[in-house]
Amino acid sequence: MSHSIPETRLTYAGSGLDRLSEQRGDIALIESLRTDARNFVLAGESFLLAKRGAGFDAGLTNEEAAVAGDTLETALLGKDPRGRGHFARAIPPSRIDAIKAHEGFIVVDLRSIALQGLVPPEDLSALATAKALLFWHERHRFCANCGKPTKPAQAGWRRDCGSCSAQHFPRTDPCVIMLAIHGEQCLLARQTRFPPGMWSALAGFVEPGESFEEAVRRETMEEAGIPAGRVSYFASQPWPFPMSIMIGAFVEAKSDKLKIDEVELEAARWVTKDECRLLLMNKHPARFFAPPPLAIAHHLIKTFVERGEGVFG
Ligand SMILES: [Zn+2]
Repeated sequence: MSHSIPETRLTYAGSGLDRLSEQRGDIALIESLRTDARNFVLAGESFLLAKRGAGFDAGLTNEEAAVAGDTLETALLGKDPRGRGHFARAIPPSRIDAIKAHEGFIVVDLRSIALQGLVPPEDLSALATAKALLFWHERHRFCANCGKPTKPAQAGWRRDCGSCSAQHFPRTDPCVIMLAIHGEQCLLARQTRFPPGMWSALAGFVEPGESFEEAVRRETMEEAGIPAGRVSYFASQPWPFPMSIMIGAFVEAKSDKLKIDEVELEAARWVTKDECRLLLMNKHPARFFAPPPLAIAHHLIKTFVERGEGVFG
């Protein structure tokens, strides 16, 4: 695979934190990082943001986090260049109404925080890490090996079973997202769950025993009936909905004859660069549009418009 990393930093990547992955067992260090911490507090699907003048801050002080009440789980996200510890905290969703009544906070889901640009990009990445990690904790309270309760270890980066001693680690699910290219056109599709009018690249989960390239080729064939040639890696993006990583690629279509999987897709069609430009700019005459810049699909389409078949190197 050739490399063509976009210059644009992808949303949800790039926290700039030192994850301290070798020091998560150092309890004295973890405690010292808690003294002047920034706390990213999740309640259900939404985060608490503290009001700061006209803006908002996702990194709550310890005093602000205390207002949110006791945590269900906590995990160390890392240390910023100024030495401050960043922590993820989960609180019960039942507390959201009480917090909304508090003047100092707003409660917002992560997509809206990103779309509205409520916090700096590096904090979006910390929020994404917090969301994926806390989701994993919530669903791994019991041992997958013996069924007994597990408890958090390693500053929130492991769960240990007290019964059979199995250790469980946070996971992220790889998902390929690929733009199929045939000459001067690319393939865009609609899943039924998409907002009306939105067209995007094909996507699907990588299966056990499969390389990313194989997953790209399989999904392109399954969803659109297109035999695939060259695959070119583009970039990857953490996608905490709930805990995936999107692996972006371009794939050469060896045919333009579509045979659509109607269970997976509502529609698919070949789109010219000119039409792609209109989709990216939200100026399409039919009010069709591409995913917003926060999604890697936007950057796949944009890069195809700029470079055409040059994306294959
Ligand atoms: Zn067990």
